[in-house]
Amino acid sequence: MPKAPDCRGERNPWPEWPRVCKTDYGQEEAIAKFGADPRIYQTTVTRLISDKDHNLTAIETVKLGDDLKPVPGTEETRPCQLLLIAAGFLGPRKEVPEAFGLELTERSNVKTPAGSYFAGVPKVFSAGDMRRGQSLVVWAIQEGRAAAREVDEFLMGYTGLN
Ligand SMILES: Cc1cc2nc3c(=O)[nH]c(=O)nc-3n(C[C@H](O)[C@H](O)[C@H](O)COP(=O)(O)OP(=O)(O)OC[C@H]3O[C@@H](n4cnc5c(N)ncnc54)[C@H](O)[C@@H]3O)c2cc1C
Repeated sequence: MPKAPDCRGERNPWPEWPRVCKTDYGQEEAIAKFGADPRIYQTTVTRLISDKDHNLTAIETVKLGDDLKPVPGTEETRPCQLLLIAAGFLGPRKEVPEAFGLELTERSNVKTPAGSYFAGVPKVFSAGDMRRGQSLVVWAIQEGRAAAREVDEFLMGYTGLN
């Protein structure tokens, strides 16, 4: 992905979550030790290179354009002994929402009315990451409990769950 801006953009005013480049203490330490920010943006790994004993020795990378497609001629080989894959969350898988014919938000989460877990199709409710997008375990627990209350009320006409 491209580097986030250092300051808030015009379309990202307070009190929205600041979508800016953050430098954590670990990165600050790396900058202090190695003299430069170790992060490389808009670049992907295309090949892993190992020695005869199958130990990783290098990676091949290529820069990505603004369309996130490889830019020919920007291939590089970089030494590498340890590769950690950090997989991000791009939204819930589509199979379940598609199977139930659920409407999605612009961030590809299941759409529910504000303050409700009803997914818009009779007898279907949604909670947790599927409803709010990538988040925290505490939110998943809270939403699971609140959704259970709503399901109970739907089934029984009232709820004693709290
Ligand atoms: C790498 C990583 C690190 C994280 N670290 C933290 C952390 O440190 N602290 C923190 O608070 N949160 C962390 N999170 C976020 C946290 O894990 C999620 O917010 C939370 O697990 C969401 O809970 P959920 O019940 O909504 O969804 P999930 O935990 O994703 O549960 C959904 C379940 O549905 C099942 N499922 C999917 N499709 C079907 C189907 N068709 N039929 C039946 N079952 C199905 C899945 O197998 C899964 O068990 C992390 C997430 C990731 C990916």
